Amino acid sequence: MTARIIDGRAIAAELRASVAAETRRLTTAHGLVPGLAVILVGENPASKAYVGSKSRGVVEVGMKPFDFHLPATTSTNELLGLIGELNNDAAVHGILVQLPLPPQINASRIIAAVDPAKDVDGFHPLNAGRLASGLPALAPCTPVGCIKLAKAVHASLSGLDAVVIGRSNIVGKPLVQLLLAENATVTIAHSRTRDLAGLCERADLLFAAIGRPEFVRGGWIKPGATVIDVGINRVAADNGKSRIVGDVFFAEAVEVAGAITPVPGGVGPMTIACLLANTLRAACMQVGLTAPDV
Ligand code: NAD
Repeated sequence: MTARIIDGRAIAAELRASVAAETRRLTTAHGLVPGLAVILVGENPASKAYVGSKSRGVVEVGMKPFDFHLPATTSTNELLGLIGELNNDAAVHGILVQLPLPPQINASRIIAAVDPAKDVDGFHPLNAGRLASGLPALAPCTPVGCIKLAKAVHASLSGLDAVVIGRSNIVGKPLVQLLLAENATVTIAHSRTRDLAGLCERADLLFAAIGRPEFVRGGWIKPGATVIDVGINRVAADNGKSRIVGDVFFAEAVEVAGAITPVPGGVGPMTIACLLANTLRAACMQVGLTAPDV
C-alpha cells in the first residue's frame, strides 16, 4: 500500500484564501485592518527566513505588517519595552516574538509580557491554561495546523487512538489538548518513554514532533494510520548540499501509512496560515466582533 500524501501547501493555500476573504469583509464592513507585529532579535538565518515568510503572508491576506528587527545584544528590558508599546497600540492586534531568543533574554518573561489578547502564537500561560481547561483560547499555530491536516483525512477524530511524540510547550503539549478537544484518546511520548515503537504501533493518528531526522521507522507504524510529521531537520545531501527531512523515515512510512504529510510541504505551510487565522481572530475579539470560522 502507498499512503495518500496530505498536501499541506494546498490546504494552507485554501486557509489563507478564506482568511483573506474574511479580512476583506472586515475591512469593508468595519474599516478594520488586522495588524501583526513580528519581532526578530538577532541574525539566526532560519528565524530570518521564517519571519520573512510571515511578513509576506500578512501582506498577501490584506493585513498590516509591523516588522521589528532588533540587534542580537538586545536586553530583556529593551524587548519588554517594545512589547509594552505594542500591547498599547490599537493598530496592532497580534504580537509574535520569533523564538529562539538570544541567551541573555529571559524568554519566559517575554512570553508572559505579551497581552494574552494579542498572543497569536498562543504561548502565553493564560492561553495555555485556557486551552488545557477547554476554554476558548488563542492556540499555538503548529498544533492547530496538525489538527487541520488530520481532519483533512478523518471527518472526525473522535475515539481515534492518537500518539504524540514530543512534549514541548509549542507543539506536543498543546497538540494533546487540541486532540482531547476533538475527543481522541491521546498518549504523549517523549525522550524517557519506554518501548516507543510498541506505543506507535497502536496509533491511528501518529504525530512526530521530536527534532530528530527520520527517527520514526516504517515498522513502528500501524498499517493504514495517519502520520503527521512536524519535524524540520537539515541533513547533508548526496550532492554535497543540504536537504530538509522530517522526524519520520518517509520512504518507509509511505509504504505502511494510510495517509502521511511530506516534509517539506506538510505541516510547515500550515503554521503561517494558522498564524494569519489567529491574527484575524484576535483582531475581531479586540473590537468586540464575532470571529469568523475560517
Ligand atoms: P523540542 O526540542 O522543544 O522538543 C522535542 C521533544 O521531543 C521533547 O519533548 C523530547 O522529549 C522529545 N524527544 C527527544 N528525543 C526523543 C526520543 N529519542 N524519543 C522520544 N521523544 C524524544 O522541539 P519542538 O520545538 O517541539 O520541535 C520539534 C520538531 O518540530 C523540530 O524538528 C522542529 O524544527 C519542528 N517544528 C516545526 C514547526 C513547523 O512549523 N513545521 C514548528 C515548530 C517545530
